[in-house]
Amino acid sequence: MAHACTLCPRACKVDRRAGEKGFCRAGSLPSVALACLHRWEEPCLSGSAGAGTVFFAHCNLRCAFCQNQAISQQDAGTEISISRLAAIFLEQQARGAHNLDLVTPTHYVPQLIDALSLARRDGFSLPVVYNSNAYETEATISSLAGQASIFLPDLKYFDDIYAERYSAAPGYFAHASRAIARMAEIAGPPRFDAAGLLQSGVIVRHLALPGLAADSRRILEWLWRTFGDDIYISLMNQYTPVHQAGRFREINRRLTTREYDRLIDYALGLGIENCFIQEGRTASAEFIPEFNGAGVDSY
Ligand code: SF4
Repeated sequence: MAHACTLCPRACKVDRRAGEKGFCRAGSLPSVALACLHRWEEPCLSGSAGAGTVFFAHCNLRCAFCQNQAISQQDAGTEISISRLAAIFLEQQARGAHNLDLVTPTHYVPQLIDALSLARRDGFSLPVVYNSNAYETEATISSLAGQASIFLPDLKYFDDIYAERYSAAPGYFAHASRAIARMAEIAGPPRFDAAGLLQSGVIVRHLALPGLAADSRRILEWLWRTFGDDIYISLMNQYTPVHQAGRFREINRRLTTREYDRLIDYALGLGIENCFIQEGRTASAEFIPEFNGAGVDSY
């Protein structure tokens, strides 16, 4: 890790190894809040056994509606060594996970690469899913070539007004669009195994926010125009007005079924076929994992 952290577009230039903290508040050792089998990712990732999810603490965004704010914006999580992180990767494989699903990993990319190297030396061979918010630099994404084969980025906003208002992320779309384009170059078109599990490719998630239909449509248009069917899109309806969403009256409610259905119709109308949608009402705090440190330990 460089002395002056520029891993993400915030370019805080703090020396994390010397204990300095930037916007994300991450230190130099990876901090993990939960390692578990996750059955609620997209079906081609969760399969029958589950994705081998590792939730990292801290985040380089400040989403007002973050459903994981206990770990993203507070200091929950346990700092562990690189060798312990490598052991967690191997444990996920031993549990029967279909892949290793690294959630909110941006601020720990160099540490992840080191841990993957150690784990592979000891027999780790699962596909690696890089599950991020896409507020990232092309250089950081490029460093993942040969490390991650599946990219699962969010694409949250088209218009910077919303990115700044709800996530304190200036220039979000400009950065995220370049990062996703680089992910698509690295991963190539989607490739599945005989059981229908994704082995390589890109799935872009878009969480539809209440009242932001026009912004969601512009995101779909850009994705379709740029990538066509070379990526999958996952349209998510699970927005829940948790954390500080109440500060913004317009997003202090769930998405309606009609809003979500209209967005699906719009995607289909554009010609998008590689699209995951969520059935029924998934917007509930019950779907938020309990970040209790299970599977982490600190040795
Ligand atoms: S990863 Fe964290 S410390 Fe580094 S530039 Fe981004 S927000 Fe700042």
